[in-house]
Amino acid sequence: MPITCPRCHSAKLRRSKRRSLVDYLVSAAGVLPWRCEKCEARFHARPVPFRFSLYAHCGLCGNPELQKIAPEHVPGASAFLGRLLGLPSLRCDPCRHKFFSIRPPLPEEHLAVQSSVD
Ligand SMILES: [Zn+2]
Ligand SMILES: [Zn+2]
Repeated sequence: MPITCPRCHSAKLRRSKRRSLVDYLVSAAGVLPWRCEKCEARFHARPVPFRFSLYAHCGLCGNPELQKIAPEHVPGASAFLGRLLGLPSLRCDPCRHKFFSIRPPLPEEHLAVQSSVD
């Protein structure tokens, strides 16, 4: 599941029923309503957000909401190369994956568009 709750970051989500005109309109664009099983937050998100593929995203879960971390915190053999090339070092909060990305991090204004809690 590439989507996590924007409020509590739980990955335990279920598809919410389309019940409003907005739900039908956004679903036409591939954005679906979801509900978090943990905190009951309802939000809209795209299962695989293609427009984020231009930007850095987690290779394990597809999450584009990444934290910038210090390069020395990235483990593994790729860390040496990433440091050498000066790539941005990022951390995915839901799955704790740390990595360097050759893509630029997602600008923050895009995050508000991706999901909205009501
Ligand atoms: Zn939640
Ligand atoms: Zn992840």
